[in-house]
Order: sequence, then C-alpha cells, then structure tokens
Amino acid sequence: STTPFITLNNGVRMPQLGFGVWQVPDDEAQVAVRHALEAGYRSIDTAAVYGNEEGTGKALAASGIARDELFVTTKLWNSDQGYDAALRAFDTSLNKLGLDYLDLYLIHWPLPEANRFVDTWKALEKIYADGRAKAIGVSNFHPGHLQQLLSEGSIAPAIDQVELHPQLQQAELRAFNSRHGIATEAWSPLGQGKGLLDDPKLAAIGAKHGKSPAQVVLRWHLDLGNVVIPKSVTPSRIVENIDVFDFELDAEDLSTLGAMDAGNRLGPDPDTFNVT
Ligand code: NAD
Repeated sequence: STTPFITLNNGVRMPQLGFGVWQVPDDEAQVAVRHALEAGYRSIDTAAVYGNEEGTGKALAASGIARDELFVTTKLWNSDQGYDAALRAFDTSLNKLGLDYLDLYLIHWPLPEANRFVDTWKALEKIYADGRAKAIGVSNFHPGHLQQLLSEGSIAPAIDQVELHPQLQQAELRAFNSRHGIATEAWSPLGQGKGLLDDPKLAAIGAKHGKSPAQVVLRWHLDLGNVVIPKSVTPSRIVENIDVFDFELDAEDLSTLGAMDAGNRLGPDPDTFNVT
C-alpha cells in the first residue's frame, strides 16, 4: 500500500500525501525530512518564510532518491509579491533548496488589500513557461481571489493550499476548486494536533479499525480527495502518518467526521491577513 497520486490540471502527478515542515528549524528539518523520506514520503512542503529550505534541500540531496521521484513544493512570501520581486524570490528559494526546478511553487497568501497577486501570478506563469516549476498554484486563496486570478491570469492555478481539517471542512471552497479544476490541498490537516486529535469520537473510529485518531483524520482527507501534508518531527508519528493506505472508513465514520465541522479556524483569515 503506497501513496496514491492525484493528477493536477496540467497533467502533473502529485503524491496525495506529503510531509510539511512548518515551524521546524533548519537543522531539525534536515533530520525530519530524512526520516520522512526513509518512511516513504516523496512529497515535501516547505516555504521561504519557514527558514528551512536549506535543511530540506540537504536532506533531499543526501537521500540519493532520483529527482523525478521527488515532489518539492515551496512558497513565495508576502514581502516578495510583485513581478520582479517574485522572480528573484523564486531564484533564492531554488538556490537554498539546491534544485534546478521545483515541482510546485505557490503564492503563500493573497494579501487582497495590497492587490498584487495578479502581477505576482504573472511571474509564476513565466517561471512555469520556462520549465523551472512543473506546476504553479496558490495558498490561502478564497473563491473571490481565485475568481480574479482566473479572469486576469492566463494559467489556472493547479492547486489551492488552505487550512482544512474536520473542524474547518471548507465545503464551499472545495466545491469551487473542483468546479474549476483546482486541486485542494489541506494545511494543518491534523488541526495542529492538540484539541482535534483528543476528540473521543476519533479514538472510537480508530479503535474500530486498529488505527490512531491522526490516521483516521488523514484517511478522511484522502477520501475527500484532498492532498494532505501532515507535519511531525517524531519518527514514530512520521511513520504512523503515512500508514493510512490499508483501511477504509465506513459511511457511519464519514458521517461522524462530517458532523465535526465547526468553522474553527486556527490560522489567520486570508481576507485580512497582511503581515509581510
Ligand atoms: P498538522 O495539522 O500537520 O499538525 C502537526 C502537529 O500535530 C504536530 O506538530 C504534532 O504536535 C501533532 N501530530 C502530528 N502527527 C501526530 C500523530 N500521529 N499523533 C498525534 N499528534 C500528531 O499542522 P501543521 O504543521 O500546521 O500543518 C502541516 C503542514 O501544512 C505544515 O507543516 C506546512 O507545511 C503546511 N502549512 C501551510 C500553511 C500555509 O499558509 N500555506 C499554514 C500552516 C501549515
């Protein structure tokens, strides 16, 4: 039971489950990514603002895994929005990662007030046209932001990476994305661990299948069709979080999970977030 792929709107295949490294310092990221690659993850999600592109890149290089078996995502930080700045930021990220192309490059936040995401997107379109990113997408874009990008840009984003977990199910956004051929990727898929994973309903579902609450939640994401990028620096949890391809949730489990939606946002609201 290995990780399935989803096919993005430009034909690129992306592992449906990957490994996130937010809040992991550079040297620890190198160790964590090594553990993840050893556990079988092939997709890694970082960002310029995480400050761990170098450690991530070192682990990728040291793994000896062929480049075309890896799927590397990084993100353009808010202060680098704008056409020229975005091109420079891309070069910096690629250098830090030690790569000559990226699999996926994302605009990290829309910053709707600044209203520069279309110019920024044009730089990503150039990077894509030059073959330096195999796919381009966005993060934290709401339907209104996506609508503007779709009407003013030339290329539709391949993916929208948003906060999504059982307490923030994003039904409207997922429906918008699927109508427009945009894949939905879940950040904080485990609700950042505490709180969500302590819900006894998840333990009960897990007990039925011989799985942990985290595994139940990841299986739910996969069933919804989300791309998912759980984070852990604990080797046993890194292994646990990719061991989700040998069981199935039943209709009762899915309805229990569906009823957990509470509009509970853990991160900033993309409509107002403007930190650079
Ligand atoms: P997550 O939902 O993946 O939760 C991670 C936390 O859950 C861990 O730190 C740990 O405390 C706990 N945990 C992990 N595995 C567990 C297990 N098996 N059992 C019990 N507890 C477990 O949270 P996240 O790191 O916020 O999100 C995942 C990734 O999403 C990030 O690393 C990053 O790559 C991405 N992300 C992107 C954005 C964005 O704006 N685009 C924002 C946040 C996160």
